[in-house]
Amino acid sequence: MTAHHILARRCWIFDLDGTLTLPVHDFAAIRSALGMTESDADILQFLASLPAAEAAARHARLIEIEYELAAKTAAAPGAGRLLDQLLRRDARVGILTRNTREIALHTLGQIGLKGYFTSDAILGREEAAPKPHPEGIEKLLAAWGSAPDETVMVGDYLFDLQVGRAAGTATIHVDRSGAFRWPELADLAVATLEELAVALAHAVPMPSL
Ligand SMILES: [Mg+2]
Repeated sequence: MTAHHILARRCWIFDLDGTLTLPVHDFAAIRSALGMTESDADILQFLASLPAAEAAARHARLIEIEYELAAKTAAAPGAGRLLDQLLRRDARVGILTRNTREIALHTLGQIGLKGYFTSDAILGREEAAPKPHPEGIEKLLAAWGSAPDETVMVGDYLFDLQVGRAAGTATIHVDRSGAFRWPELADLAVATLEELAVALAHAVPMPSL
C-alpha cells in the first residue's frame, strides 16, 4: 500500500484524545486515581470487571477526570487544516474514542473542531465496544455505506492501529515523539497532523463510487 493510495481514501476515522487534541492524558495518574494497581492495565476492562456499584462510582470519577482534561487541551497542530481539506474533497470523517460521546462533543467544542463532525459520526464507549474491538469502525462504515478498503484509521496509540488492522482499514500513526513504537501496525507514520495535511494536499482523491 503506497502513501498515495492511503491518502486518496475517502473515509477517515480519527481517535480524539492525543490525536485531534494535544495529549494531556496522564494514564498512570488516571489509573491510580481510580484505585488501579497495575500500571499498564486497560482502564475500561478494569471498570467492567468490578461489581456494578463500585464500577459506577469509579466511572463517575473517570468522567470527572475526563472533563478536567478536556478543559486543559487544545487542537493538535494541523487538525483544522487537515479536516478542512478532507471536507473540501467530500471525504467522510468520524471519530472513534474510548471516551464518551458526550465528553468528545464537549472537547470538540472546547478546541473549535465541533463543526467538522456530525454527532452520529462520533462513537464513544457507549456506542460501540471499545477499541481495539472493530465494532465502532464497522458501525461507521455501515452508516456511510463504505468499505474498509476506502478507509483510514488515524491515531496516536496502539489501540488505534490495532482497531484499524482488525477492521481491515489502512492505519496512520501520529506520534509527536517520533518513536513510532508499532511500525508493523502502521501503514503510514507522521509526527503531526500538519505533516499529514501537507501530504494530503499532494494526493489525488479516489473517484466517488
Ligand atoms: Mg489517543
